[in-house]
Amino acid sequence: MAHKKITMEHDKKIALVAHDNKKRDLVEWAKYNRVLLAHHTIYATGTTGELLEQELGFTISKLQSGPLGGDQQIGARIASGEIDFLIFFWDPLEPQPHDPDVKALLRLAVVWNIPIACNRASADFMISSPLMDDDYDRLVPDYDVYLTRRIPGNE
Ligand code: PGA
Repeated sequence: MAHKKITMEHDKKIALVAHDNKKRDLVEWAKYNRVLLAHHTIYATGTTGELLEQELGFTISKLQSGPLGGDQQIGARIASGEIDFLIFFWDPLEPQPHDPDVKALLRLAVVWNIPIACNRASADFMISSPLMDDDYDRLVPDYDVYLTRRIPGNE
């Protein structure tokens, strides 16, 4: 399949999300990386965003709480190019009422080939990458081929 390039600018649009048992971890990670995060635009699901705003002291675009639709709002923003980087500390040991939304968010992140970190070590490697300090051309499959596919019964 052919690919298209989508440029991620120097100042990236980062979404931060953590399930309840992982919120402490994400807050600690974000505090440690506060300076690196400060020049990016930060989005977060509602409760995660409240905690981060208190601890980091800069404005975060807070969406709905995850189980109330926040994960889907982030997914929608990924699809429309408004978010291009995802740090999502999801909890592998606790069932979530919005499990389909969690899967949908992770799926859209893969569809649009955005960087995703689902644990602290991955987030450390990603935030310290030299690629963070530059524009980056993300290769995304050329979905025009998909959009012009043949629909059975509609030839
Ligand atoms: P919350 O949502 O930040 O509002 O707790 C996180 C999630 O469960 O997706």
